[in-house]
Amino acid sequence: MFSLVPDRIENSFTQVKPDELEKNGIRLVLADLDNTLARYHQPDPDEGLKGWRDQLEQKGIALFVVSNSRRPQRAQRFCTELGIPYIGHAAKPHAEAFREAMNQCGCRPEETLMIGDQIFTDILGAHNAGIRAIYIRAIALDSAFRKIRYGIEAPFRALCRLRGDRI
Ligand SMILES: [Mg+2]
Repeated sequence: MFSLVPDRIENSFTQVKPDELEKNGIRLVLADLDNTLARYHQPDPDEGLKGWRDQLEQKGIALFVVSNSRRPQRAQRFCTELGIPYIGHAAKPHAEAFREAMNQCGCRPEETLMIGDQIFTDILGAHNAGIRAIYIRAIALDSAFRKIRYGIEAPFRALCRLRGDRI
């Protein structure tokens, strides 16, 4: 039950401040791609994301995409353009891809943070790997399915607000 409750909620990844992460001992940020870092059909990273990646880098924090995209070249193109590592078929909420990313970067769970827009893949998967997770509100709820899922996730957002931020 509590593994489904985010450790914090933000409206956008830009609200996750690199200097604050550094103070919390974070050295690796794992990020969902679609609807967290970019819209579903946006093929390349925008300037805002590139700037955030640079700010993280300046604090010695790596950015690493963990995506469940079913489109074969999606994460590859986006992350190559952004110059960051990625796992494209992560099978979240299974913990394996999260562990693989931490292994590649030599980071422990307590030095790692996940950000993503879905409770049942991003938040649950991170918690399955012992990683704290920030829920980022989806960039666009542009299908009936996504709106319904957002509604189903409401109790877990509410519990997060009740409990307070944990990072
Ligand atoms: Mg997503």
